[in-house]
Amino acid sequence: MLKCHSCGSEFPQYSPIWRCPCGGVLDVRGASIFPRDQLARRPMNFWRYRESLALPEDEPRISLGETITSLLRVRFRDWDVSMKLDHTLPTGSYKDRGVAVCLNHLYKMGFQIVSEDSSGNAGASTAAYAAAAGMHANIFVPETTSPAKINQIKIYGAECHLVSGTRTEAAKEAQIERQATQYIGHSWNPFFACGIKSIAYEIAEQCDWCPPDWIVTPVGGGSLVMGLIDGFGDLLDAGYIQNIPKIVAVQSAACAPIYQAWSRHEPKVTSVELQQTYAEGVALPNPPRGTQVLEAIRRTDNVMLSVDDADLISCWRDMARIGIFMEPTSALTVAGAYLARTGREIIAEKDKTVIIVTGHGLKTKSTLVNVT
Ligand SMILES: [Zn+2]
Repeated sequence: MLKCHSCGSEFPQYSPIWRCPCGGVLDVRGASIFPRDQLARRPMNFWRYRESLALPEDEPRISLGETITSLLRVRFRDWDVSMKLDHTLPTGSYKDRGVAVCLNHLYKMGFQIVSEDSSGNAGASTAAYAAAAGMHANIFVPETTSPAKINQIKIYGAECHLVSGTRTEAAKEAQIERQATQYIGHSWNPFFACGIKSIAYEIAEQCDWCPPDWIVTPVGGGSLVMGLIDGFGDLLDAGYIQNIPKIVAVQSAACAPIYQAWSRHEPKVTSVELQQTYAEGVALPNPPRGTQVLEAIRRTDNVMLSVDDADLISCWRDMARIGIFMEPTSALTVAGAYLARTGREIIAEKDKTVIIVTGHGLKTKSTLVNVT
């Protein structure tokens, strides 16, 4: 079942809608929890949690070999910390978790053509899974998107449309296209959000069901932070874990609509003016689920930070020097984690901390090479 976050309207699970007629975002409700005692007999990919991803009993039809991503302990500067390496998923970003679940639902509903707006990673992921499913994909990206991401979208066979302006303009174009096809809208889509919960299940299982004290995540549209909150919430409700990790949610100082509302104690997220930033993956000046994310962060007593590009670049380079090559948007998370650990003293030295690496460094703009 799908339920509107704004007006409470309910719709069947296989409804061809991406938001409520009232304009509100939809959430998947009524999915059961995966049986923990059967995990040992299931394959090592995130489909092992399929009941909680609102997927049918039978095996998924569309897969690119999504593995359980490593949780790697590293020494970063003066800090022992764990990195969740989601940049090793099939298309090089965590977006595969949501897109894989989303495309399986659309495939089951019989759609042959999909449209999507993206800063690059979700577009590349959609293009790949659409190719695997034999679907045609129209992807709308801001014209400032990294050439590596545009090339990745095109090589999968998708039509890549460059849109002048921000993600907001790209989304409008994709929604117009939707009149003839199915708009995915990963910032809106309830099944995308549902698929992201798998990262919480994985981290919990990898930690032998004793989750870390802190998880640090970037925030653009907010799907990752919502997936973590909802995913760990599922596990607590099921009695699989006894405590929920606290989250540090990091935005770019150049585009921080949710952080601004949070720090100013405002009830709703309002649009901000986008400044230039290397953190292109989280540059959403008006995120559709912004207020829902704000409410969830407040309800769970989690923490937000904003980080500028200078700290991002410094952490990006230092992470590469210990062998982890991430896209600059992911380095935003590292910079936020380090600030929370050293500058703000939010994270204590003894605290177990996991930083999520959301995208691969090979997607980076070539102009950034000069920065290093
Ligand atoms: Zn509604």
